[in-house]
Amino acid sequence: RAKELGRKRYAMFDDTLAKNVVDELSMEGELRQGLQRGEFQPYLQPICRLETGELVGYEALLRWHHPERGTLLPGAFLRVAEDCGQIEAIDWQLFERACEALLRLPGDSEFLTLNVSAQHLRHGDFDRRLLGMIARVGVSPSRVIVEVTEGSLLDDPDRVRNILERLRLAGVGAALDDFGTGYSSLNYLHSLPLRILKIDRSFVQALDAGDANSSTVVEAILALARALDIHVIAEGIETQRQRSLLRNMACELGQGFLLGRPEPVEHWVVEPA
Ligand code: C2E
Ligand code: MG
Ligand code: MG
Ligand code: MG
Repeated sequence: RAKELGRKRYAMFDDTLAKNVVDELSMEGELRQGLQRGEFQPYLQPICRLETGELVGYEALLRWHHPERGTLLPGAFLRVAEDCGQIEAIDWQLFERACEALLRLPGDSEFLTLNVSAQHLRHGDFDRRLLGMIARVGVSPSRVIVEVTEGSLLDDPDRVRNILERLRLAGVGAALDDFGTGYSSLNYLHSLPLRILKIDRSFVQALDAGDANSSTVVEAILALARALDIHVIAEGIETQRQRSLLRNMACELGQGFLLGRPEPVEHWVVEPA
């Protein structure tokens, strides 16, 4: 009886495993095709000054306009794209499109942030390649900010620090994304050339629940950033209450559905009359 059960369970496990392998293999092919057909597009989400509501920049977020499955969020394909080594090619296409888009947008001082996967930072020449693309497109380097996560520092913090330092010398800024969710080390904070720290949305969401501890943590992060002269963006602001709590804590910048959703580039471009 136990043997029978065991076999059954094993067979079930086998089936899902096989299905997942097939899914990933077919997705690999679809990713390659999507890249050739230009199906990956940046959506832009506004970043605003909390005090005034003024728009100061945009985050470029990857979207896949899949011919059959519709518009896919990174959560549906990013891991496969990273595992099969295609994320870099996808990102380079996306980064270039996002920089081109920035030149078509109204205003000439807003910045653009790009999400950089850990893979990119394994190559010591990521900075050279990025600066080459920025020059080719003709956007000012000082308007571009790379977002890295704490996770991508684990591998080789020195190499990442060197890449970010060379970018800084060329005018490109760096932001630490999802701060507080990874293996946060206070060491990174003062040794990395960071312009921006992004407080993860889990902290922002906890604020709304009236959680006293979470506001203490947010205030501590804000004090730390202030002492290190780093700007702060609070991520995932969805309610007026979250916004006003953060504003009262003197959090400078914010991003979230309340302030604006990620939208295709055309949404933000004002066509000349
Ligand atoms: P992230 O960089 O932390 O991006 C923020 C995510 O939060 C985005 O999800 C955004 O749509 C979502 N978000 C923004 N405001 C709100 C809000 O008020 N409430 C809620 N619930 N969510 C909000 P998205 O676009 O699905 O991206 C997920 C992750 O995928 C990103 O997290 C980033 O790590 C990665 N990613 C996005 N674009 C790229 C890219 O171009 N290249 C690479 N390598 N990774 C990317
Ligand atoms: Mg990000
Ligand atoms: Mg984030
Ligand atoms: Mg995230």
